[in-house]
Amino acid sequence: MPPKTAIIIGAGIAGCSSAYALAQRGIQVTLVERHADIAAEASGNPVAMLYPRLSGDDSASQFAFAGYLHSLALFESLNLDPQNYQNCGLLQLGFNARELARIQKVATQNYPENILKLVTSQEASALAGITISHEALYFPKAGWVQPKQLCQRLIQHENISLRTLNNAINIMKNNDIFEIYSLDSTILKADIVITANANDAQKFSLSSHIKTQAVRGQISQLAATELSLNLKKVVCSDGYLSPVVNDEHCLGATFSAETSALEVADLSVTQADHLSNLESLKNISEGLYQNLYQNISNGRVSYRCSTPDYFPLVGSVLNSAQLKSAPPRPSSSPEALPLIAGLYLNIAHGSKGFSSAPLCAELLACMICNDALPISHELAGLLNPNRFLLREMGLKQLAKMPVLIK
Ligand SMILES: Cc1cc2nc3c(=O)[nH]c(=O)nc-3n(C[C@H](O)[C@H](O)[C@H](O)COP(=O)(O)OP(=O)(O)OC[C@H]3O[C@@H](n4cnc5c(N)ncnc54)[C@H](O)[C@@H]3O)c2cc1C
Repeated sequence: MPPKTAIIIGAGIAGCSSAYALAQRGIQVTLVERHADIAAEASGNPVAMLYPRLSGDDSASQFAFAGYLHSLALFESLNLDPQNYQNCGLLQLGFNARELARIQKVATQNYPENILKLVTSQEASALAGITISHEALYFPKAGWVQPKQLCQRLIQHENISLRTLNNAINIMKNNDIFEIYSLDSTILKADIVITANANDAQKFSLSSHIKTQAVRGQISQLAATELSLNLKKVVCSDGYLSPVVNDEHCLGATFSAETSALEVADLSVTQADHLSNLESLKNISEGLYQNLYQNISNGRVSYRCSTPDYFPLVGSVLNSAQLKSAPPRPSSSPEALPLIAGLYLNIAHGSKGFSSAPLCAELLACMICNDALPISHELAGLLNPNRFLLREMGLKQLAKMPVLIK
């Protein structure tokens, strides 16, 4: 029987798309967020780019592609305002030997031309509206979205109620009902809980075996010029540059060394990170660099939530103490694992949350409601949120399987 009520902790793209996927199935959702507004942390940049990074026919590319197509279809179905979402097209430049080899390899893989195609530097320049000196992979349907407006649209649903300024500090399960205790002493109750609170998921005792890395990133906002207004596509080198959105370009993003997810986050914008973003702009177009490098108007820092294999963590959470005290045999089926029935994760979307979190939200909703999965069992298994603990315990086969709820 599907649950009737759910609490989702965290109102970034993972929490909002999880709320949407459950609400669509008739489940009453309470979405709790510690800030005064939604999309206030990693999902809070003014603009996010929507595109897949493919390298071959490996599972990471298959997952990236499935997530990209899912987000495209979802965003289309939401009828977002063109001021908030545009699939204007995106160019990935072969700006160095490695990237050139990658895009040329991807182009040989029989994707339809309306999904991606290799273009010459002349074609890339005509598409972009600025001079591009490299061959490029062109994604005609990729583009950009404004995260806050997207998240707001996702949670505009009669089955979703939002509680902001609600900092969840503990999750308890009593007689099959979950209780969420918050810093302001409120207690919320529901049949199931999804923790979609990125690096903070490991602060709850029930999911403390989940380890993620926080990866600092800074974007730079650049005031538009007469020349830069010509830019019609998102263009990527080792960074990305958006066309003008609200008089500014978004140039991103730095990727700093991983820190412990539990370390205090430093949110200060640095000049060094602006310079690093400008280096990526040089790799996009020397001309635009010369035109824009003095136009930095603002910046923003936030932290990605990442895993060592770069796949997100999605699915049912294990009772780690019970698992360690009575480990199943390596050849056991996933049913032998001690689940905390009703407690789920949708976190660790790394650098591509806008093309991975909505698909993961749909996957999780299908798992919860016993619907057919939107991706293969093999791919779903790669997202098993307990995989690192299971691997550590020598349970490699179980680490690769999705834990489905019976
Ligand atoms: C600089 C930078 C640029 C990026 N650019 C892109 C891009 O162009 N395209 C793209 O697809 N991705 C991009 N990403 C990645 C993307 O932003 C993330 O993958 C995505 O936002 C993660 O969403 P999330 O919902 O998992 O996490 P978050 O957005 O961080 O949401 C987690 C939420 O949980 C809340 N929370 C945490 N703990 C609690 C608690 N105890 N109680 C209540 N609430 C809690 C937080 O306040 C937060 O709102 C970028 C990331 C960075 C850092």
